[in-house]
Amino acid sequence: MDKRLLIAVILIGALAGLIFYLYRNVYLPMKPTFGRSTRLVEWIRDPAAHQEWSIKAGTRCAPDTPFLLPTDGLVGYLWNDSFQAGKRHQGIDVFGGTEVGKTPIVSAYPGYLTRVSSWKSAVIIRVPDDPLQAGRQIWLYYTHMADPSGNSFISSDFPPGTIEKYVEAGTLLGYQGNYTGNAANPSGVHLHFSIVLDDGQGGFRNELDIRNTLDPSPYLGLLLNAGQSDGNVIVCGN
Ligand SMILES: [Zn+2]
Repeated sequence: MDKRLLIAVILIGALAGLIFYLYRNVYLPMKPTFGRSTRLVEWIRDPAAHQEWSIKAGTRCAPDTPFLLPTDGLVGYLWNDSFQAGKRHQGIDVFGGTEVGKTPIVSAYPGYLTRVSSWKSAVIIRVPDDPLQAGRQIWLYYTHMADPSGNSFISSDFPPGTIEKYVEAGTLLGYQGNYTGNAANPSGVHLHFSIVLDDGQGGFRNELDIRNTLDPSPYLGLLLNAGQSDGNVIVCGN
């Protein structure tokens, strides 16, 4: 074979391999997220026109669903969504469609609330007995409850430094905000809710790593296959 032809064949093969790799590892994982972002823009633009898309704080998807839905709004993103190549979402995001400080957030399940002294926008609640896996301790993490400058919307019942304060399901924790830690780059107004695994020593693991978290959808009774479909509104699965 002609040497140049051989080089051309190798290059074309390498290019095809690269395209296939990017398709499988970048495009496909992010595809559902693109679809959800489109839906989210529609919601934020006019929530009143799409009230049927909203979940309702303090209600249950079904009588046997372990967790209460923790806030009102559109479930914009799910666990394992990919916003950025190689990064996976560690929880679910619910967008109230309101200004900051307006949409209430309630405890999804009873437990013991801690707010680390430096936390402006987050609380974490220890659940000694996982309702879907008896005997396992889990932690429920609620965040973005502050404005871009870090003014907190967390209930005054839970000041910074709160440790192990018992709360019932349905207790008001605070209000949705858009705090990210970078005042110049706030998020949309939402709640990020995640289930964090225990570290085995009475603490919680780093919630920023998806491997330390569980999919909240089965606990909330949300549509289980929503991760595969970019067209559906994520609502109760029953
Ligand atoms: Zn999130």
